[in-house]
Amino acid sequence: MSRPFIVAIDGPAGAGKSTVSRILARRLDFSLVDTGAIYRCVALIAKRQGVALDDDAALEALLQTLQVSFKVIGEENRVYLGNEDVSGLIRTPEISMGASKVSSRPVVRKGLLALQRRLALAAEKGAILEGRDIGTVVFPDADAKFYLEASAETRARRRYEELFQKGVESSLEEVLADQRQRDKQDSERAVAPLKPAEDAIRIDSTSMPLSEVVRAIEKHVLEKMAKR
Ligand code: C5P
Repeated sequence: MSRPFIVAIDGPAGAGKSTVSRILARRLDFSLVDTGAIYRCVALIAKRQGVALDDDAALEALLQTLQVSFKVIGEENRVYLGNEDVSGLIRTPEISMGASKVSSRPVVRKGLLALQRRLALAAEKGAILEGRDIGTVVFPDADAKFYLEASAETRARRRYEELFQKGVESSLEEVLADQRQRDKQDSERAVAPLKPAEDAIRIDSTSMPLSEVVRAIEKHVLEKMAKR
């Protein structure tokens, strides 16, 4: 049997990856792997167990027992740690920053590679993976690769709205400051820094509604699927 069709969607925080990926997954009947959520789960467990975010040995031990899964319920992609729904708990500013910190540790990136691949390859028809290094590291041979970007202000506004809707208290200034720091950490880290794959289709969504982004990506994917 041939492997599922793999779609990589990378880009910085707030570029619209989550919304676009969720809509696309539903339209194409693909499974969805939110790799940022996996890094967020690692940060959440580290916090609960009192593990320092630069303690490589303890982080490596923690990864051995990590059980992350996803379930699309209605409009939402819920995230589970074992049987616990942690969807809300992993979206706080503290966990965002923690995820960015643990994601710079090579031991964590390496430890999560197999899990990300396994979740995607378990899909029946196809999988959409959203993250920072999907097209460059996790699936360099993905069937279709996209890199979403948007101005820093637009991205912060979208993230702020998203947090507001989820009932997380924050201000636009706070979100923008956090985002700047995360962008810097994510693009300057030594291992798998945030950067577009050479063969990724780049889409700037600053002044483009996300529905148009979905349509553009879907068109490319359907063309590629027809050729496969
Ligand atoms: O996408 P999201 O904002 O949920 O990701 C949280 C953090 O996880 C990012 O700031 C980034 O540091 C890290 N991440 C990563 N590689 C990925 C996905 C996320 O380093 N593929």
